[in-house]
Amino acid sequence: MKITKVRAVTHEVQNLITGWKISLGTKDNHELIFVRIDTDEKIFGVGVASPGAIYISGDTGVHHLELINNIFGPAIVGMDPFELEAIIRKLESLARTAERAMAGIDLALHDLMGKALGLPANKLFGGAVREGVRVNRLMGMYPPQEMAEKCKAVVQKGYTALKLKVGTTLKEDVERVQRVREAVGPDVMITIDFNQACSAKEAIQRIQKMEPYDVAIVEQPVKAADLKGMALVRQSVQPRVMADESVNNAAEALRIIESGAADVISLKIPKMGGIFKVRKVAAVCEAAGVEYLVGTAPGSRLLDAANVHLAVSLRNLTLPCEIGEFERMANDPCSGLEIVEGISRPPQAPGLGVEVDLVKVGLAG
Ligand SMILES: [Mg+2]
Repeated sequence: MKITKVRAVTHEVQNLITGWKISLGTKDNHELIFVRIDTDEKIFGVGVASPGAIYISGDTGVHHLELINNIFGPAIVGMDPFELEAIIRKLESLARTAERAMAGIDLALHDLMGKALGLPANKLFGGAVREGVRVNRLMGMYPPQEMAEKCKAVVQKGYTALKLKVGTTLKEDVERVQRVREAVGPDVMITIDFNQACSAKEAIQRIQKMEPYDVAIVEQPVKAADLKGMALVRQSVQPRVMADESVNNAAEALRIIESGAADVISLKIPKMGGIFKVRKVAAVCEAAGVEYLVGTAPGSRLLDAANVHLAVSLRNLTLPCEIGEFERMANDPCSGLEIVEGISRPPQAPGLGVEVDLVKVGLAG
């Protein structure tokens, strides 16, 4: 089988919970890039790239689109879609730090391979070791009382784990966690994500003041490059410390582990360049005995289908994963994935297993 054509188009989705903010910036609309890869055997796959906000990814959606259509696509035409290692090596030789564009291609290839074999995507990389995954839902930064009300509405839908964006002032951050805990009760697992907002000492002070409200995980309290600061936070507070922006690949995972800077690493398909590359980072975590979970970029059921195929395959996974954010997005052209009582299960149809409305995204024919 040979790849004959690679096409990518942009598609915008809107956040239904408006005014969404994190400590790095604010964004309600997300530009996604849908990627279709065709073959000489009439089988095709569809993937999605999530360029994300430029204050996180450092790059624009337009640039990702150009990369896929003009550089990555033509380079892999003629290659066998099952030769993933060769394809990824080729893409890496063409562009540095282009993981988010690469992830769109990787997902389309997993969809394609699964369809060619009649298998759900997770069977391409070891299969499922669990039926479903507990979902952790995200909440942007709002004034404390408003945030508590929004979180309560999410929990009422059956979710048992929440991740709160924080990172303004000590007083506000502590009050956010306090109000949310009061609103959702003692049994909901709470993670907080600073998105690099603090110095190590500021983070320690805030996290210690949150102790009565039972925070389970603290994500990326300090700057991505500040591994010493992160290690200091980890030694000084009760909750697990999770690295997100600090870890984009296997080499960075190794560095975080060697620095003793994190208990948990957030595995993300977009930032790490696709399922194939994420699983290499997962292997590093497993070798070191460091925990992991599947984190996300909000957008489409297509990405979340890939996320859940990945999550059910991870042998050491015990923590809830970020697989439900499609629920707060309008204009998703995909269907066939829903969260039931806070649990996500992988679609059983071949490939990534969700239906993509190709006419709607402009990739039909
Ligand atoms: Mg994060």
